[in-house]
Amino acid sequence: MKTFKVLILLLLLLAGQHHVSADKHMSNDIEFIPWDQVNLLLPKYSKFTVRDVLTGMEFNVQRRAGSRHADVQPLTKNDTKILKEIYQGQWSWRQRAILVLYKGHQIAASMHGMPHGAGALQNNFPGHFCIHFYGSTTHRRNSMDISHKLMIFKAAGKIYEHLQTASPYEVISAFIAGMKEDDEEIIDMVTIQNLTWGKSLSTVETIMIANMPQLPDEDLVSQSQLSVPIELDWYRAGVGRKNSHGEIHLFRFLPSEGWKIDAQRFVEDFFEDEMVE
Ligand SMILES: [Zn+2]
Repeated sequence: MKTFKVLILLLLLLAGQHHVSADKHMSNDIEFIPWDQVNLLLPKYSKFTVRDVLTGMEFNVQRRAGSRHADVQPLTKNDTKILKEIYQGQWSWRQRAILVLYKGHQIAASMHGMPHGAGALQNNFPGHFCIHFYGSTTHRRNSMDISHKLMIFKAAGKIYEHLQTASPYEVISAFIAGMKEDDEEIIDMVTIQNLTWGKSLSTVETIMIANMPQLPDEDLVSQSQLSVPIELDWYRAGVGRKNSHGEIHLFRFLPSEGWKIDAQRFVEDFFEDEMVE
């Protein structure tokens, strides 16, 4: 029975190989410029265009503040309107892959869509929002925010190759971030099965890793399967706040290939008796 299960997993892994084509945003013109250089290229009060990668919609902003990432405001009421449309009428902390267009540059970046703090422009936007570039950090932390990082890789068309070489813990972080951002493309890249998540994914209002003990790299080199204990804090519509303990199971076909998560098992263990078809 066990051999049979492994065989099925191998087949699923092989079937997942065609994922390479998922990297459709690849373009030589997109630049992956680190924050310390962007900081000089786009000084405070500079104005630039933001293009949402998924929808192709564009709007203009002005950088007003921010030392570790850009705190920006939509330039006009119409720019605010477009930003809100991108977020389907609802301000949200969800991160999205964007390109910053400025003087011929197309720079990979990530934004969220929640007005906060102070604003100064007559733009109907109550505050500012944040744009992160590679190497940017949040106001509170010293490391890159995982969701912003993934969205920057996505905007640059490099997310597939990034996840192929990522550690199992980063793959899990990407999986959880994919759930948080409601991004099935990222989830599909790090899972063995392409589940049809339907509505269950959008019921996950927020999810974060509360605890995930990590083995040192040298213990992972020759592994082809791994069970990682994890504690999740999450909030689901209709269910409420949950704190779940369990394990995430990962596999890889060859040591040179990316880790993939057994999503079916995750759903069985963490979504309990609910349905994901
Ligand atoms: Zn900010």
